[in-house]
Amino acid sequence: MTSFAIMWFRRDLRLSDNPALLEAARHKRVLPIWIDDDAEAADLAPGAATRVWRHHALAALNASMKGKLNFRRGPAKAVFDELTARFDVEAVYWNRCYEPWRIVRDKEIKAFLKNRGVKAQSFNGSLLFEPWTVRKQDGAHYKVFTPFYRKGCLAAVPPRIPLPAPEGMNWLKDQKALDLRMPGHLPERPWCAGIMEHWRAGEAGARERLARFCETGLGDYKDGRDYPARMNVSRLSPYLQSGELSPNQAWHAIRNAASDKNADHFCRELGWREFSYSLLFQHPDLHRRNLQTKFDAFPWREPDENLVAWQKGMTGIPMVDAGMRELWQTGYMHNRVRMIVGSFLVKNLMIHWRHGEKWFRDTLVDADLASNSANWQWIAGCGADAAPYFRIFNPVAQGQKFDPGGCYVRQFVPEIASLPDKFLFCPWEASNHILEEADIALGKTYPMPVVDLKKSRNAALAAFQSLKSRLGGQDQPQSARTDGELA
Ligand code: FAD
Repeated sequence: MTSFAIMWFRRDLRLSDNPALLEAARHKRVLPIWIDDDAEAADLAPGAATRVWRHHALAALNASMKGKLNFRRGPAKAVFDELTARFDVEAVYWNRCYEPWRIVRDKEIKAFLKNRGVKAQSFNGSLLFEPWTVRKQDGAHYKVFTPFYRKGCLAAVPPRIPLPAPEGMNWLKDQKALDLRMPGHLPERPWCAGIMEHWRAGEAGARERLARFCETGLGDYKDGRDYPARMNVSRLSPYLQSGELSPNQAWHAIRNAASDKNADHFCRELGWREFSYSLLFQHPDLHRRNLQTKFDAFPWREPDENLVAWQKGMTGIPMVDAGMRELWQTGYMHNRVRMIVGSFLVKNLMIHWRHGEKWFRDTLVDADLASNSANWQWIAGCGADAAPYFRIFNPVAQGQKFDPGGCYVRQFVPEIASLPDKFLFCPWEASNHILEEADIALGKTYPMPVVDLKKSRNAALAAFQSLKSRLGGQDQPQSARTDGELA
């Protein structure tokens, strides 16, 4: 083969608004490559649900370049070593990723390629703002969301207008490339079988979902986003996670569609995504270390059968079970419910947030190291700008408020669907007669609650109180997040 450039796809599985690809397109011939380098990530390798999603997103990308995407597996540096030894490679282009292990590894690859005389250039393809650019005037990173977003993001140069997809590409295929369905590429987990029935991965699927959201969801986003049975959230997170959609595309599409409080609020949520990346950039061990170190001494309970009940949606608390089953069946969970199930795990069950983070990482199609870790720390109260520990979500009151009519719970916990609304979120309060009429035998057809909500809440508060008095900690400031009242 004569000389060519390599476009290294990673978490940017799209042709449009892809700055690295546009640069690669300046070369006459381009070899597009995707490398399964999960083994390099060690314990931070993508979870099963994101790998299933990624498989479908890759298939769509491959189809859009007429089967020319080259699949490889192994340490990325070894792959480039081999490719640059076999071919006259002019340059390698990629969009940056921000997982700490990748930052270190990519630097090494850049140095290696330059040493070989190959141009290596990376771009920003997955964030509105590079995490190192959003800083206070004194150069320090923001620790609180509102100033981060208002002063750091909104006052900065607006996010890039999305770039067009390159035209007339001359893609190259290497004979050594593997098939997308290489062994072990698709994980086998019980929850993986059906999740893609709910989604259409790929760039076209992302465009379709964005357009539908602009037409039918955005108009009442600010208020409707709290109600899991309503179609007011975008469900764009898995596309943003794998990069079939860039945040710039989402930002500008929403700004073009509306200029009201709903559009502002949606962009603010993209701001939380940016804030999560800023935190990950500042704290590479965000997924395992409490940002507020006083929580290191918190008396977490050993994970036991209650963790399994939580994972399987069998806690006996309908709103929690509905969320965990939505996750199991679809690979997604509505944000309001993520907060409810998170608070339940960390506060009512007093199980360390790291177990929740890990489970979400394996089961969410949008699992993202930055957003997942930052949000679990937020829920646990130990993160930056976090929900104060002493504010505990009451899953019964939350259900009554945000699932009035019970559509969401009835969809995911059908065995209690016949209960009257009054008892739908607290079946244990129903009389035997009402339970019998609804054909429910608590403890048999649906579990008894694994904990008493009031007692477990008090136990968590007592543990937090003792932590505070032992360490002399302060109450935390009110969180900037407008996620509604906590009950
Ligand atoms: P929309 O309401 O339509 O929001 C649009 C976009 O804004 C989202 O796609 C997402 O990219 C971003 N966004 C919204 N809320 C947040 C937030 N709180 N933090 C960061 N970005 C946000 N989000 C992930 O993308 N990956 C995760 O692994 C993840 N784990 C979470 C774990 C917990 C315990 C909690 C409470 C939240 C988590 N979130 C995570 C944040 C949020 O729940 C999801 O981004 C959101 O539910 C995705 O649905 P959507 O696209 O319909 O959101």
